[in-house]
Amino acid sequence: MLKVGYIGWRGMVGSVLMNRMQQENDFAKIEPYFFSTSNVGGDAPNIGRPIPKLLDAYDINILKDLDCIVTTQGSEYTEEVLPKLQAAGYTGYWVDASSSLRMNDNSIIILDPINRHVINKGLENGIKIYSGGNCTVSLMLLALGGLFERDLIEWVDSMTYQAASGAGANNMRELLIQSGYIYNDVKMLLDTPNCNILDIDAKVADILKSNQLPMNYFGAPLAGNVLPWIDKGLDNGQTKEEWKGSAETNKILGYKPDTILIDGLCVRVGSMRCHSQALTIKLKDDKLSIEQIQELICKHNQWVRFVDNNKQDTLKYLTPAAVSGTLNIAVGRMRKLKFGNNYLALFTVGDQLLWGAAEPLRRMVNIINEYHK
Ligand code: NAP
Repeated sequence: MLKVGYIGWRGMVGSVLMNRMQQENDFAKIEPYFFSTSNVGGDAPNIGRPIPKLLDAYDINILKDLDCIVTTQGSEYTEEVLPKLQAAGYTGYWVDASSSLRMNDNSIIILDPINRHVINKGLENGIKIYSGGNCTVSLMLLALGGLFERDLIEWVDSMTYQAASGAGANNMRELLIQSGYIYNDVKMLLDTPNCNILDIDAKVADILKSNQLPMNYFGAPLAGNVLPWIDKGLDNGQTKEEWKGSAETNKILGYKPDTILIDGLCVRVGSMRCHSQALTIKLKDDKLSIEQIQELICKHNQWVRFVDNNKQDTLKYLTPAAVSGTLNIAVGRMRKLKFGNNYLALFTVGDQLLWGAAEPLRRMVNIINEYHK
């Protein structure tokens, strides 16, 4: 049986990965080992059978005996441990949720419903590093898979609405604590009948501008606010999150850089889970009708849920609240734009912890397992 080590299993992505593996009975197919950077010797997660206590995630001697390492711990861990592991002669697979190795020549970005052919070629060529893609990129590709597959897209402008959980477990807590602070601050006014809404608004504005809210993780209030900056800045004015759109999409599809241009602004919003994106797409073909486009999108994969362009269905099915915790990729608000018949707008929502992070990793371990049978 494939010996697989899991690092980062209690974080946001790791917890979702553990849930999905339990749901799909994946632990029965492998010999799992669990590691920790903070609680060595503690209890490993309950997977329904006896397993060793938590091992030291920095112990190269233990790690190097594994066939596959799955890390959802983050870039710092990858950058510290992988070079040492390689120097110690590790020949197994490295499956990684972080961005640090995605653009390396000797790595593949995994999203198998889109690029199984690229993954298969990588396995045959002995590639050992498989990185999950950026969450918004993976969700956009699944939403538009039917159009990418037919090479119908010239460029995509992606304006994102990214959930707090995209930044990790501690950020989700911070959003809720901020919300609680704000509510508690105005509760008396809310409970006072006929209280002027401008008084309530002024009090909320004061607390948002004060330094009272905890903001260690976001660096600013997210509750009652939006933050149009994710990740670090680049010299060209993009943030790194925005840069990933074109860079990763083309690599996932097996294209040369910037074959298809993807750009836009990435924004953090106060939803807990699920990344949403408003997409403007320039199609290569101006003859396609909305019905034909819908058919291509829906037929591409089993996870797309098309939402008719009306208020009732949109509010019911095309929101983070509706999609959260599912593998569904909701696609709606689709229409041609006034700019011309080859300009398409649509809105899409996907759970960035599932298809945007944990699910491609989970499926990759199964692919590796199958490949070595
Ligand atoms: P995270 O929730 O911060 O977890 C990472 C690690 O932080 C955990 O494994 C845990 O390590 C430690 N930790 C510290 N405080 C914790 C707490 N209160 N609860 C749980 N764990 C805590 O990070 P993440 O969001 O899962 O991201 C992991 C990697 O996946 C990053 O590289 C990220 O960029 C990438 N990614 C994230 C998303 C997303 O939507 N969040 C999507 C795609 C990719 P120990 O158990 O060893 O202490």
